[in-house]
Amino acid sequence: MLVELKNHLAEGCPTTEDFLRSEGLKYHFAGFPGTPVYVVVSYITDKQIDFLKSLPTVAKITQIGTSYQLASKKWKASGTVVKVKNLEVGGNYPVLIAGPCAVESEEQLYTIASFLAKKGIRFLRGGAYKPRTSPYSFQGLKKSGLEIMRKVADEFDMMAVTELLDLSALDEVSQYADILQVGTRNMHNYHLLRALGKQKLPVLLKRGFSATVEEWLLAAEHILLGGNDMVILCERGIRTFEPATRNTLDLSAVALAKQLSHLPVIVDPSQGTGDSRLITPLSLAAMAVGADGLMVETHNDPSHALSDGQQSLNFGQFEELLTGLRKISQLDSRPFDFDSKSVKFTS
Ligand code: PEP
Ligand code: MN
Repeated sequence: MLVELKNHLAEGCPTTEDFLRSEGLKYHFAGFPGTPVYVVVSYITDKQIDFLKSLPTVAKITQIGTSYQLASKKWKASGTVVKVKNLEVGGNYPVLIAGPCAVESEEQLYTIASFLAKKGIRFLRGGAYKPRTSPYSFQGLKKSGLEIMRKVADEFDMMAVTELLDLSALDEVSQYADILQVGTRNMHNYHLLRALGKQKLPVLLKRGFSATVEEWLLAAEHILLGGNDMVILCERGIRTFEPATRNTLDLSAVALAKQLSHLPVIVDPSQGTGDSRLITPLSLAAMAVGADGLMVETHNDPSHALSDGQQSLNFGQFEELLTGLRKISQLDSRPFDFDSKSVKFTS
């Protein structure tokens, strides 16, 4: 159950916390700016609920009934809009995040970003710290990759989306990123997630490749509980018996997450399929099931990419993707951010 407060510092009346404590109820506090919330995890009687309702500090009580509470749509019926500087994820316009799997050099990122910016793309992806299955594969340019990412993103007025691999790099990566990406391998790193709840940047949370939807939403809950509600869920494929694609892109999970949660959900068909030929069809399908946007790997020279070249679109394929997305966005009257001049967040 969630107990939302008007002003938890209100004086002269019994505080909600005093009551929860005196009744021996188990609870947690999530300090969202402007919306302090107690997450009550114990069984609570009708009498206790009535008393809480009578407190002048209590604004709203919501019975949730699922293991994740703050991530539930039962609490927030309208979708959360994640503000990224002057842009939005989960707002009126689906977003397209694009860029290489990894930052390889300033020249490479500049070439790619310059192409993307001309197409109206506002979010630039690129890993500086790469989680690679083999220790012999390219591990990323690390700090110099972050520096390149920031410089190039600023040059084209784009938002920088880059992965944070572990807590020790949080301060460093935060200096350069606009969105912190948590990779599929880290979805279960609860220590990292809790720390991300305590900082101010939006978090793009990939679904673990063997995580259930409930586990994915509980991972988001770890971040939310820290008071950071700027969480973007990202479906990136799960491991199944099918070896013909790198992963199985689980679009039913996307439609389900949109129904269960108020958080924006985007789709990464690049890791999801591992095959550049499948990116456009799966991107269109993702939008059709209600995704709030896409994250797509794009490279100026995929065959020489230092990571994930086989699943990276070349520039011609990227244009084909845009053509397809324009068609589908017309069908459901949801123009993409790259086609809208009014995507800027104004208030
Ligand atoms: C990536 O986006 O390049 C990446 C490594 O993603 P994932 O964590 O989904 O494998
Ligand atoms: Mn990749």
